[in-house]
Amino acid sequence: MTPLEQLLREMIETEGPLRLDRYMSLCLGHPAHGYYIAREPFGSSGDFITAPEISQMFGELIGIWCAAAWAAVGKPAQFQLVELGPGRGTLMADILRASKVMPGFLAAAGLHLVETSPRLRALQKQAIGQPVIWHDTLASVPEGPMILVANEFFDAIPIRQFERRAGRWFERVVGLAGGRLALGLSESEAAQGQGALGSDGDIVEFAPERSAIAGEIGGRLARQPGAALIVDYGHLASAPGDTLQALRKHQFVPVTQSPGESDITSHVDFEALAKALQADGAVAWPALTQRIFLLAMGLDARTAALAGKAGAKEAETLRRAATRLAEETQMGNLFKVLAATSPGLATPYPFGGT
Ligand code: SAH
Repeated sequence: MTPLEQLLREMIETEGPLRLDRYMSLCLGHPAHGYYIAREPFGSSGDFITAPEISQMFGELIGIWCAAAWAAVGKPAQFQLVELGPGRGTLMADILRASKVMPGFLAAAGLHLVETSPRLRALQKQAIGQPVIWHDTLASVPEGPMILVANEFFDAIPIRQFERRAGRWFERVVGLAGGRLALGLSESEAAQGQGALGSDGDIVEFAPERSAIAGEIGGRLARQPGAALIVDYGHLASAPGDTLQALRKHQFVPVTQSPGESDITSHVDFEALAKALQADGAVAWPALTQRIFLLAMGLDARTAALAGKAGAKEAETLRRAATRLAEETQMGNLFKVLAATSPGLATPYPFGGT
């Protein structure tokens, strides 16, 4: 039993079953035993690998997008370059290196990272190697022109789930069965989910915390010029379905197994994110698959350029990385890219049709 499982059992014995958002938030962020606080999740020896860790090309192409976005808002002399959930800091380091092609961008950028894990903050500091201000939430990032990026951040923000039984909706919770953690349903009918269409057995997911963060981004873009780029695995249109998952050592495991030692996430509902961004005044452009985004940003040319300068083995690694990022059966279709901008700006390339 993990130390967190012991704590969770005691909590459930005294307070009753935990809502999934509370369970997820304790598993990922408990100050002593939370997954992102205590573990090293990334890379082949960890539990999963993310796009920036697969290849520098991912962050470089996003860096070019950020530089173009800064130009599109009139190259403000000072702006906040914000990243939500920067992990090991690899994406930001690659963005900063690639954005050198745009004169003035780096001098104008103030770096703000939203990260709750002290251990990951230390890794980010090392990777980025220049002054950065950390925040626990977006709320404390100063207002002003802003370019914001987030890769695999929203999937880690807790969700709630409701299941339909005999025409009524019940919230899914983590309780105890035979002394072990187990998924179950709340005893009383839930007010949420009532409006949702569906049939018996359907599970619907709601992520009010994700919408609140997207709303905050949208509000900032409405008040100040800027743009945001959100990348994650998920679906373009809201639909019923259970997408809660736990990953450990690159394998799916039950979500109630080894809490604190596996990564618990769910797929991102991009329709819900776009609505939240727009509700607070930003323009959300129709999302693209990661494949279409990266190819339009020049992934093939970048791969060829780097491979041309590399030895045979390294060139092969680069080509394999490009395939992994963009192939339909790998990350290319599952991952989506959503851009939001301040109102009144031209469609940011490559969104809005090519
Ligand atoms: N973007 C990185 C890391 C993704 S993992 C990459 O692509 O490699 C998720 C990141 O979000 C981690 O840095 C984690 O510590 C951070 N995170 C998770 N929940 C958070 C929260 N509620 N507030 C701020 N950061 C959070």
